[in-house]
Amino acid sequence: MSALSASRLLRTLLWPGWRSRSSKPAQNVQLSKPGNGFSFELTDEQKEFQATARKFALEEIIPVAAEYDRTGEYPVPLIKRAWELGLMNSHIPESCGGLGLGTFETCLITEELAYGCTGVQTAIEANSLGQMPVIIAGNEQQKKKYLGRMTEEPLMCAYCVTEPGAGSDVAGIRTRAERKGDEYVINGQKMWITNGGKANWYFLLARTDPDPRAPASKAFTGFIVEANTPGIQIGRKELNMGQRCSDTRGIVFEDVRVPKENVLIAEGAGFKIAMGAFDKTRPPVAAGAVGLARRALDEATKYALERKTFGKPIVEHQAVAFLLAEMAMKVELARMGYQRAAWEVDAGRRNTFYASIAKAFAGDVANQVATDAVQIFGGNGFNTEYPVEKLMRDAKIYQIYEGTAQIQRVIIAREHLGRYKA
Ligand SMILES: Cc1cc2nc3c(=O)[nH]c(=O)nc-3n(C[C@H](O)[C@H](O)[C@H](O)COP(=O)(O)OP(=O)(O)OC[C@H]3O[C@@H](n4cnc5c(N)ncnc54)[C@H](O)[C@@H]3O)c2cc1C
Repeated sequence: MSALSASRLLRTLLWPGWRSRSSKPAQNVQLSKPGNGFSFELTDEQKEFQATARKFALEEIIPVAAEYDRTGEYPVPLIKRAWELGLMNSHIPESCGGLGLGTFETCLITEELAYGCTGVQTAIEANSLGQMPVIIAGNEQQKKKYLGRMTEEPLMCAYCVTEPGAGSDVAGIRTRAERKGDEYVINGQKMWITNGGKANWYFLLARTDPDPRAPASKAFTGFIVEANTPGIQIGRKELNMGQRCSDTRGIVFEDVRVPKENVLIAEGAGFKIAMGAFDKTRPPVAAGAVGLARRALDEATKYALERKTFGKPIVEHQAVAFLLAEMAMKVELARMGYQRAAWEVDAGRRNTFYASIAKAFAGDVANQVATDAVQIFGGNGFNTEYPVEKLMRDAKIYQIYEGTAQIQRVIIAREHLGRYKA
């Protein structure tokens, strides 16, 4: 049996009827009916995805996570297994051979994977980020070609926007694409690209209008670039503070020729595509932060029940119990934040406001809760023999990538004030 048919068989066995699932809101989202209010109950299918991801995280990710963190090795066996289980690329449309799940389901899966290890989760999530511009803006041919191949084998892709000189200020990127006949020639440098050295193809944002006065909404173009195109030089794996098994690199593009068929929508449409992708990817990033925070709370709670000082378990000191209560409050509210953001976008509504709230809040919560977990562990919390120092290192990136904590607040303020000015 080929690898392809084996994986499809596995997915069919795990979820009978998975192919018939659709991302249409009515089937995936529990939209409120008049008088019924919001339902917090997951559907049976959602529970199934959540349970499969949870089992995978507990039985397969957690036992090896510390070692991947120590070596920084890319977790290929875990990624292959997640692919086989249908736990990655979950939003690739059914027309391209994917599961076509909604953002809500993707978030449920992501929270569980992140509970296991956010280095693994980020490698998987970076695929969603790379794919999202193609999902929202690709034509049928582009979707079939580039998304379709990812349902046939466990391939990675990447989102190449940030540069050494421009991260938050996306309109400041300097990578240039010049039209030459039926091709574009790309020159420039990208930085901090997750899956940079593992990707089969990239979504790349480049400036096509050299006029510095051209508005961002017209000056940039989004391309799909095959990773084996001549002229691409992949940098060394960066040694990061946390999520160390995730692959982050700089990439140089030197006279890289890309056929015009690989332009998304049209010349000039790139900025909106690159930014639009975040509405669907920020809720899962927030879900990852919640997964990490939940893990920190669990570890801290178990430790506090066992560790004794002054003749009693430390959980019986009110200061520790209240710290756990604060941590629990934050985890629960951060989860509601990503669920709302995902629910909005699955219902077909613009969710930029909610996506930024979810991402900003969950990113902060992950950092606060992981730090508090280290505190509850005392000296042991500072040591690599215990799980919480990794959580604290891993948490920091949630306040940086996919828009920093400050940029989320810029967006939230803009969206909020826009309602008053309208
Ligand atoms: C591990 C990792 C993985 C990443 N993966 C990817 C990826 O796959 N693809 C990709 O394209 N990028 C990726 N990035 C890049 C990431 O998105 C950027 O690092 C991030 O957007 C911040 O950009 P910067 O690093 O240039 O910081 P800067 O933009 O230089 O910001 C520096 C500081 O100034 C603050 N700041 C900037 N502008 C404002 C403002 N207007 N108001 C208030 N504060 C402001 C920021 O919040 C930050 O604190 C990754 C980064 C890391 C570290």
